[in-house]
Amino acid sequence: MTTAVAPTLVPPHGGFLVDRLVPDGDAEALVVEARRLPRLALDAREIADLELLAGGALSPLTGFLGEADYESVVSRLRLADGTVWPLPVTLAVPEELRGTVEDAGEIALEDGNGRLWGVLAVTALFRRDPLVEARFVYGTDSAEHPGVAYLLSRPTLLAGGTVRVLPLPELPFARFRLTPREVRARIFAKGWRTIAGFQTRNPIHRAHEHLTKLALELTDGLVLHPLVGETKGDDVPAGVRFRIYETLLERYYPKERTLLAAVPAAMRYAGPREALFHALVRKNYGITHLIVGRDHAGVGRYYAPTAAQEIFDRFRPEEIGVAPLRLDPTFYCRSCATLASSRSCPHEAASRLELSGTRVRQILSAGEALPVEFTRPETAEILRESYGYSAAATKAPAPGKPGDPKGSPQAVRRDGPGFVLWLTGLSGAGKSTLAEALRAAIGPERALEILDGDEVRTNLSKGLGFSKEDRDTNVLRIAWVARVLARNGVGVVTAAISPYREARLAARRLAEENGVRFLEVHVTAPLETLVERDVKGLYRKALAGEIASFTGVSDPYEVPESPELVVDSSRETPAASVARIVAALREADLLPARAPDAVRALAEVAA
Ligand SMILES: [Zn+2]
Repeated sequence: MTTAVAPTLVPPHGGFLVDRLVPDGDAEALVVEARRLPRLALDAREIADLELLAGGALSPLTGFLGEADYESVVSRLRLADGTVWPLPVTLAVPEELRGTVEDAGEIALEDGNGRLWGVLAVTALFRRDPLVEARFVYGTDSAEHPGVAYLLSRPTLLAGGTVRVLPLPELPFARFRLTPREVRARIFAKGWRTIAGFQTRNPIHRAHEHLTKLALELTDGLVLHPLVGETKGDDVPAGVRFRIYETLLERYYPKERTLLAAVPAAMRYAGPREALFHALVRKNYGITHLIVGRDHAGVGRYYAPTAAQEIFDRFRPEEIGVAPLRLDPTFYCRSCATLASSRSCPHEAASRLELSGTRVRQILSAGEALPVEFTRPETAEILRESYGYSAAATKAPAPGKPGDPKGSPQAVRRDGPGFVLWLTGLSGAGKSTLAEALRAAIGPERALEILDGDEVRTNLSKGLGFSKEDRDTNVLRIAWVARVLARNGVGVVTAAISPYREARLAARRLAEENGVRFLEVHVTAPLETLVERDVKGLYRKALAGEIASFTGVSDPYEVPESPELVVDSSRETPAASVARIVAALREADLLPARAPDAVRALAEVAA
């Protein structure tokens, strides 16, 4: 299943654009065939790879790597036939499936929701050494590196072979999820011959805008090509980023020379190897030049800043077929009074306006404006909303009327009845983040308290351990305090793992017996996401058996059977979750009827 492409476009890697999607007419037969096969649930990264494979973005690959290609890619950045290929694209299989996979010769591939995506014809079943792969691919075997942590969390048995993929389901950002064929068709229709690609997983500030515009000075067109696959948990969610991209393209770029499209790739944080991978994938989309900045696809300090640019020099240009546009980081220089880089500006660092991500968040959360030289006001506003820091939310609550102090019966009535919003879920699932976002969104509207599990353990429950009995005692103490507060008109948000169903039920009874509304919210995310987010490496240690009684790994977590809401923090932004929770509270008459600007803004972000 390969197709020749129009001659004016850059040839795909390996010469032909792979197409592993079965025609609509054959889909039913594949579904029937899949029924007799062992089923394997792919994780988010593997599904992203499968989507890339299906549309030919990973040409010349037609499936997951077999053993010879795998060894060759890991050790020398080439497929067994010599074609340049820097990253192993692999499918992990749990050991217990080995027998049935060997017997069947094929595997039905499904996602985490049990949706069938396609079938793999297995031609190789082999083992990898994750530490060896880590050292070669990531240049480190430290479990602190998110790519390494991921590798260590997966089975070591791999299945290789060619895939056949069913017509893709409707996925988030479908409008932008253009296949390589679709992007090529648009480039062809526009008549561009040189095309710059910009890979990003971040919001675009002025410095990045400047890079894309430098590229536009040199090429016919620009494809803004952000990732929508899985990234680190603290990256800005794709929905927020796309609002920014669309707004900037609409207002500050020539329309006939730009194209916005999403790449369903997951980040691996493999630095130089991933920079080369990004370039080859973009070539398959018809892009001729990829902007490669300092520390492209890096994380922490694992790679030399120029390594991502230098890796291209290790190959002959015709072996790669897509050129890196090596651009240094840019910044606004007050002395130059323009955007510049250290190649064009002679001034000292003090003249440069550079803000860390942390500082950007601080400024936004304080309700202050970001300098327009650093980011466009439109971008700042979208970010502010997405963090739940809309202007209305960051103002202090309006003081009550004279003689109507907070806490008086009138104040309580103004707020509506108290309630307990019980957030339960594994460590790192996003409970505390969500609680803080709720405080920002509804704190100004009504009295609100957060009972955070960690804080409770260092104060109210000091001395308690992690046996089931101690955990239940801790949960009941939180429930008791929450009830007392809620009975007095306070909205209480609890953020504790609370792993046992029975204890959560007891907390609910305690509240409801006192006429207090109790809403259970299950905050969840796939285990591999939790592992990636976990900067302290606790999951990694727990998975290695070094921490006893770690909920979700070495201690049970009983999933709520019928929570009022489920929030998957890997699938929606905190702002979107907050909007749904606020809607539920309002529905239950637990918030004042009128939506303040803060909540309206959040609802828009969520839409
Ligand atoms: Zn300067």
